[in-house]
Amino acid sequence: MKRIEIAKIEDNSIFYLEKICEQKLDEYYTAGVPQDAISRVKEELIKIKAADSEDAYRIYYEFNKVATEKGLFISSKADTGNLMVTFLLGNSLFDPMKPYYYCEKCGHYEEAGVRDAKTCPVCEEQIKLRGYGLPEIFEFGSKDNPRIRRRFEFHFAEELRILLKKVLQDLYSDHEVVDVLNPDKSRSVGFAILPRNRRLLQDFPGFVAYDIKGDIAICGDVSDIEDKGIILIPAIENSVYNKVKIPEKPGMQPIQEIDQIYTKESLFEEKLKEGFSSDEAYDFVKSKIYEPGGFVPSKIGALHNKWIWSLNG
Ligand SMILES: [Zn+2]
Repeated sequence: MKRIEIAKIEDNSIFYLEKICEQKLDEYYTAGVPQDAISRVKEELIKIKAADSEDAYRIYYEFNKVATEKGLFISSKADTGNLMVTFLLGNSLFDPMKPYYYCEKCGHYEEAGVRDAKTCPVCEEQIKLRGYGLPEIFEFGSKDNPRIRRRFEFHFAEELRILLKKVLQDLYSDHEVVDVLNPDKSRSVGFAILPRNRRLLQDFPGFVAYDIKGDIAICGDVSDIEDKGIILIPAIENSVYNKVKIPEKPGMQPIQEIDQIYTKESLFEEKLKEGFSSDEAYDFVKSKIYEPGGFVPSKIGALHNKWIWSLNG
């Protein structure tokens, strides 16, 4: 059988991402973009292209754009990989750069810790601390089974589902795009993009399912589906996000806050101290900390979760 060609976005995603990042850098650094930020973005984009992941980041950007236009929140939590690129392209809330001071008046930039900076040495304006010093993560999965970022897992307010599907249908205009159903077919848990010139009903009858409205959808084992060259994008409605207002990017919050944020380990310890059994503490932590398929450095997941919790009181 001829090898099936996995769907690819027609126009050049990496070129597109470069342009958008450039524009977003200008918006974030209103008085001039520091060379460190330019270099970091450039290096990340090189790695993204080398991992053949540019379409995933393009989808990440387009999903975030649609959500922001609707005033709705979409999250990929730890999936953002602490990248400057995802910080710029989406609603990721944490400037991952090494802590630095930035003057919004004259663009003066200096690494934090060099001196106790309060005012700009150039123009004497008050200068602001930015950056959480987060390390880049390009690999997810477990240590034995690393997984390069080729897709994001999205969580969003429910009214976004139809709009997100439309984004994919526009990006992959020559391809069939359908919902992915959970095993009992009660709800949609993502989107599937079929290879060009393939139809779900004719070419993959084993995966055909119907949602509660009777629309055709896909259901089956993830690796079986992906073996057929079908792209799967996990996208899950999360009622929490119906209440979340789009925030200002808090990239300039005091970096000390990072130490007050729970990691898996500290949360576990705390629950034990409160009298939870270790099983109960483990279940509690599992319910709070998001971990796609294995280990993720826990701080970034915890950061995002902490932020979501704080918005929900
Ligand atoms: Zn200045």
